[in-house]
Amino acid sequence: MMTVYGTRPEAIKVAPVLRALQDHPRLESVTVVTGQHREMLDQVNEIFGIVPDHDLDVFAHAQSLNALMAKVFDRLDPVLEAEQPDALMVQGDTSTVAAAAIAAFYRRIPVVHLEAGLRSGDIMSPFPEEANRRITSQVSALHLAPTASSRDNLLREGIHGDGVVVTGNTVIDALLHTVAERQDFADERLAELEAAGGRVLLVTSHRRESWGEAMHGVGRALRRLAEAYPETTIVLPAHRNPVVREAILPHLEGQDNVLVTEPLAYAEFTRLMKLASVVLTDSGGVQEEAPSLGKPVLVMRENTERPEAVAAGTVRLIGTAEDNVVAEVARLLDEPEAYRVMANATNPYGDGNATSRCIAALAQMLGVGEREPDFSG
Ligand code: UDP
Repeated sequence: MMTVYGTRPEAIKVAPVLRALQDHPRLESVTVVTGQHREMLDQVNEIFGIVPDHDLDVFAHAQSLNALMAKVFDRLDPVLEAEQPDALMVQGDTSTVAAAAIAAFYRRIPVVHLEAGLRSGDIMSPFPEEANRRITSQVSALHLAPTASSRDNLLREGIHGDGVVVTGNTVIDALLHTVAERQDFADERLAELEAAGGRVLLVTSHRRESWGEAMHGVGRALRRLAEAYPETTIVLPAHRNPVVREAILPHLEGQDNVLVTEPLAYAEFTRLMKLASVVLTDSGGVQEEAPSLGKPVLVMRENTERPEAVAAGTVRLIGTAEDNVVAEVARLLDEPEAYRVMANATNPYGDGNATSRCIAALAQMLGVGEREPDFSG
């Protein structure tokens, strides 16, 4: 069983599965990292104790998506040739995922897609992830769908139900495991913030379709919020991508109650989520994690492929317009009733046992085990 992954969110979500594969008596695991993200990926591998067997090392500063795809094809193919895996697993929707899935398909290696069936319904948003998901579904043999609604998306597209298993999302397994192991903040400013006990607004932003003016608007909105709520600390673990940093950070200079950090190790980030009152994000994974911790999540996007927590009332789509971001955050900070309504712990994305369902489905596909009952939400 070969697993290929390339970015931080993929690493977090495959990590529990890789660990279970390592312990499996009848499945052998080979791991390949593409290095689409570099430091943020290595950081996660380190935490979960994963040492990749192959590293395609495709990262280059400011490279185009096409250059990235070409490198993955070029460098993965000899690894497929050498290892001859019985199946190849990918997770999620990055360019690493689409390229590795096609590369395996061309070699007639069955593709297993973890976190299959998410759809925003708009091929341009998130870009290029929505297209990557759809492409990957077309060439996959086994679709590990996190929820019933993601399974339904696949069935609607004509994917045969026999190849679709509802597992829950492995991010919840990773989260529960990590939250249980308390990790001190390496950044002293965060340790002090925790000790001081003030109100925290946690912000992450990186989506490609928001690059440019929309992201500047987010930066301006954060500055206005910092000025309007001097007692609240805005914490922004800044994404490594310089495009993101250059758009947001200049707006925040000189604000004492804004704390910009480097990307945090996963255990520290989960601790920070627990500390936060409100989470403002455009991240996919954070939309899944924060509701489990009972945190209201405001999503700076026009649509979402993760409708479950929106339906449960703990996630709200607010777009990226500056005034709207300010107004929506202010509403949660000012109105206890609005806050209370959103701050309920819900787990629509998983029960912490997704890994076991994934492994059982893999084992069945490879003829060495039986599927478990689907996750029922
Ligand atoms: N995360 C982290 N450190 C950080 C920020 C995020 O470990 O400083 C984790 C977060 O908990 C989630 C994942 O990274 O599991 C989300 O990654 P990202 O927002 O980059 O990607 P997306 O989920 O949007 O694909």
